[in-house]
Amino acid sequence: MNPNSFQFAPETFTQARTRIADRILRTPMVHSSSLSERAGVPVHLKLEQLQKTGSFKLRGATNAVLALDETAQANGVVGVSTGNHGRGLAYAARQAGVKCIICMSRLVPQNKIDGIRAQGAEVRIVGSSQDEAQVEVDRLVDEEGMTLLPPFDHKDIIAGQGTLGLELLEDVPDVETVLVPLSGGGLISGVAEAVKARKPDVKIIGVSMERGAAMAASQAAGHPVQVPELPTLADSLGGGIGLENRYTFNVVRDLVDNIVLLNEAEIAAGIRHAYWQERQVVEGSGAVCLAALVADKAKLAGPSVALLSGCNIDMNMHQRIISGEDVDVAGEGEI
Ligand SMILES: *Cc1c(COP(=O)(O)O)cnc(C)c1O
Repeated sequence: MNPNSFQFAPETFTQARTRIADRILRTPMVHSSSLSERAGVPVHLKLEQLQKTGSFKLRGATNAVLALDETAQANGVVGVSTGNHGRGLAYAARQAGVKCIICMSRLVPQNKIDGIRAQGAEVRIVGSSQDEAQVEVDRLVDEEGMTLLPPFDHKDIIAGQGTLGLELLEDVPDVETVLVPLSGGGLISGVAEAVKARKPDVKIIGVSMERGAAMAASQAAGHPVQVPELPTLADSLGGGIGLENRYTFNVVRDLVDNIVLLNEAEIAAGIRHAYWQERQVVEGSGAVCLAALVADKAKLAGPSVALLSGCNIDMNMHQRIISGEDVDVAGEGEI
């Protein structure tokens, strides 16, 4: 592989790991008999859905908060995510004693607001659209010197997510294929950079949902493009990659070997498989790698790792899915 393919120095990830080590969980790796049998190669699951705050987003957020200089830490951080990044950022900031404000519009459902507040952030409700919330974010940055920490396209966020790659290499040293959930691409960029710098022949496969796969569409177009945002069981994979994307578009282009897309029924089957076969509660976005294997949509060369990335799913919805109900979120209204 061309060494110029890398955008991060390999030690970026070891440094991030040292920085966040005592604030995150080193999550377990387990062998899956059912998937190994099905695939004909050893399949291991990285149980990152057991991470504090319920997703890997805590890694990047913790690394980014701790990497700020003293002045920036004193001024605080701001975010716009109402999902897993918001939770991770709120928790990371509180642990570090850094003020954190998450801005959101009036349309955000109360359970999401409560979820962020529970992690210790101040929630500021502004306006009735994401754009209006963004105006307040810009003001906090410009006038109060706060630092905006975005969910994926940021070097310290990517470095933090990449620490997962170092852990998985230690746990499965003979790994040949890694499956990673893919949205904005912070997770897969970190993992691909950390893993391929050490084992260039490992195949990295991204998994997204068919409904609104912004990174897949952008790669196909050769540049970042916008796609319509649609309701999906993989709700943490929604959203664009940013038309001004700086890092993740290029890393995915250079280091990701393949992107697999899944329909809603396949994602539901992944959630069911996680529960009934692996005894794990996983949200739709966290189950897509399992789902790709269950649907037989990913070719595994040898020993493989599937990443389970998060567990923040409405438990009533989870109950319905694992009971075999055909849940179509397109008809559910607010997701
Ligand atoms: C954010 C998220 C992803 C996707 O991560 P990106 O860095 O945006 O590609 C996958 N799974 C879960 C649970 C997430 O919260």
